[in-house]
Amino acid sequence: MRTTNLYIDGEWGAGAAGPLTTADPATGAPLAACATAGPADVDAAVAAARAALAGWAATPPADRARILWRIADLIDANAEELALTETLDQGQPLSVSRAVSVPGAAAHFRYFAGWCDKIDGAARTVSFPDTLQYDRRVPVGVCALIAPWNFPLMIMAWKLAPALACGNTAVIKPAEQTPLTTVRLVELCAEAGVPRGVVNLLTGGPETGAAMVAHPGVDKVSFTGSTSVGARIAAVASLKRVTLELGGKTPVVVAADADIDAAVAGTVAGGLLNSGQVCAAYARVYVDRARRDEFATKLAAAVATLRLGAGTDPEVDLGPLVSQEHRARVDAHVRRAVTEGAVLVTGGSAPAGPGCFYRPTVFAGVSEEMAVARDEVFGPVVAVLDYDDEDELLTRVNASPYGLAAAVWSDDLRTAHRLADGIRAGAVFVNMPCVPDPAAPWGGFGASGVGREMGPYAIDAYTEVKGVWVNLGGGR
Ligand code: NAD
Repeated sequence: MRTTNLYIDGEWGAGAAGPLTTADPATGAPLAACATAGPADVDAAVAAARAALAGWAATPPADRARILWRIADLIDANAEELALTETLDQGQPLSVSRAVSVPGAAAHFRYFAGWCDKIDGAARTVSFPDTLQYDRRVPVGVCALIAPWNFPLMIMAWKLAPALACGNTAVIKPAEQTPLTTVRLVELCAEAGVPRGVVNLLTGGPETGAAMVAHPGVDKVSFTGSTSVGARIAAVASLKRVTLELGGKTPVVVAADADIDAAVAGTVAGGLLNSGQVCAAYARVYVDRARRDEFATKLAAAVATLRLGAGTDPEVDLGPLVSQEHRARVDAHVRRAVTEGAVLVTGGSAPAGPGCFYRPTVFAGVSEEMAVARDEVFGPVVAVLDYDDEDELLTRVNASPYGLAAAVWSDDLRTAHRLADGIRAGAVFVNMPCVPDPAAPWGGFGASGVGREMGPYAIDAYTEVKGVWVNLGGGR
């Protein structure tokens, strides 16, 4: 079993607390013993990030860009190793880690490399005579970046690439279940020339994350994870800058004129990628009553063909869930749906044997009174509802506290745009599965979070705006 250490001020070292072990969710076999950061490690990492801040912020933007680009190149050069590590640690099929997680991480570093020398201010036309006013964007400072376990490498890249591009320094923490690709990313950052202290790695569980959030030396917290933890972080972070990417319960609307085969294929792709362990997973599908039975029958048939197995098997469509604890949570959601009267069309159980597998599951006859229509399951469970009237549909869809993503299937442009306009969500996908892109905003309304990542919005999130006023007349 391999061991991993903390990375503080350019040095690898053991943590203050004992190691945490990770396991391969496909077999249960132990994978790694990772250092656990205690309070003294958090102090040391924050101090190192603080000490490195002025130097990194003053590094010429073109040099920062070159380093970020080099990180992307190194991710590409080590893509197969990173993909296999992600699959072993998290469970996702190699087809997903190879096509989504690893190239996604590299894409974020490349996109934000391009931003380094474009983080501009502007001169403003103020009404004071003989006055030059201009504004600049400056780094926020020391950023605590905390990631979940579902797409460990890619989500850390969403945070680290813009933080570094804007001249910040970072203390980063992967989820305790899935630290291994982040450990490798930190090695690649050092190889790419990131100076000591600019990126510091703490592995550990919730206590480590909580100590980072509460630390007075941290200026900004960027957190992706559950809504309940996000709310706690918002309370503790107080006046620190905060970006929160939280849970979701993505609605999908299948209109009467939709191409049902495309809607079924898109719901399978959008709902069951990474076994539904996706914040924007297509989870509750509202089908026009006229097409409901056709949709449910075709969806069940498509889901029944999916192959479940270890992510390292290239023939597999769905890997295991991340842990036994998480599988038990998913199963509890399924049992409750059955008890509340949802019709189990396919799946609904775990196969025998080792590993954290769960059969892809479709419920029909679902109504909003049922928890499966409201609560985030974060597993391979799709609930099918129906609707008659578009106004009533929008009221029902928008009754959720979440608002991360939504999908619409319709061949009528007017219907598609009307629904895209009416649904409260940070991203609406029309006739397509959900795909994040570094250039487009990502984030949610309401209980799905605060702020946006990606695109120019990430530059806002990792900079402060400073106005400079200069008296040119001398008469004041
Ligand atoms: P989680 O909230 O349990 O943990 C996320 C991270 O926070 C982990 O690194 C954990 O160690 C740390 N943490 C836990 N308690 C903490 C505390 N009190 N203070 C600071 N850090 C703490 O979430 P999870 O189970 O790892 O991830 C699943 C959740 O993440 C789902 O709700 C999912 O929807 C959400 N998610 C959202 C997005 C998005 O972009 N909106 C993306 C992926 C996942």
